[in-house]
Amino acid sequence: MHLIYSKKELQDLVAMIRRKGQSIGFVPTMGALHQGHTSLIVEALKKHPVVVVSIFVNPTQFNNAQDLEKYPRTLDQDAQFLSDYKDRVVIYAPSTREVYKNTVQSTPYNFEGIEHVMEGEHRPGHFDGVGTVLNLLFRQFMPDEAFFGEKDYQQLLIVKKLVSIEKLAIKITGCPIHRQSDGLAMSSRNKRLTPEQLKVAPFIYASLQMAKKRFSTKSALEIKKMIEQGYAQHEGLELEYFEIANIKNLKPLSRKRNNQKYRAFIAVFSGEIRLIDNIALN
Ligand code: AMP
Repeated sequence: MHLIYSKKELQDLVAMIRRKGQSIGFVPTMGALHQGHTSLIVEALKKHPVVVVSIFVNPTQFNNAQDLEKYPRTLDQDAQFLSDYKDRVVIYAPSTREVYKNTVQSTPYNFEGIEHVMEGEHRPGHFDGVGTVLNLLFRQFMPDEAFFGEKDYQQLLIVKKLVSIEKLAIKITGCPIHRQSDGLAMSSRNKRLTPEQLKVAPFIYASLQMAKKRFSTKSALEIKKMIEQGYAQHEGLELEYFEIANIKNLKPLSRKRNNQKYRAFIAVFSGEIRLIDNIALN
């Protein structure tokens, strides 16, 4: 595993790989790596001889200064975590300056409305920040394919729109959500949960499974009410939103259509730590 910090080192390495005629996969992350991240890396390694894993806590996608400050930063452990991959994985851990030069600012994007619901509604400016940093990183070395987790399903759709808006010839591939054995979706934020909070957090996936079970017989409104009641009675978890939406345009479901696919999306606070998850319903 190589660990590099500068755009110049990255571009030199990529030029060498290109001279060998090899393709390059890309897994962008914010670090504090876990098995959810490695599931993406494993997918990328199946298709590309070399995979770049970026580790960069992007300031422009945080709407909450405390969340940014407290985001876990564990580069040494992350490098250790990926040490088995040897030469096929390159960690790129740039500074903010290396990515943004002197202007740490988001570009406003029009993602055709997808940016205004759920995560977009509750984290204003978040997807402009995501679009901005990915556009900058993509353009630094133009990977052939970039891999994103369905854990951040809305982000996956945003990135697909981004490459089309920016006319970038990069394939965007989604990968399934990796979970702990108790169902909790793996997340870097889980590292901030106390043992008590970790005991309670699997309720989030259990509530999504319950929504899925009811989906064929109940309306979206009935399911939403049931979920809201479940959280109202649940100490230790506070529901921020629960939505059932069309998987292509994220429009909230009002009337089910047979030929359409839907997912349920949820954001929950455990203390001050915000956790998100989602599930395919049909
Ligand atoms: P993050 O470091 O949280 O920005 O995540 C980097 C990438 O890993 C994103 O594409 C996430 O969707 C993906 N990811 C994070 N957690 C998981 C998980 N539990 N399963 C699958 N992908 C994940």
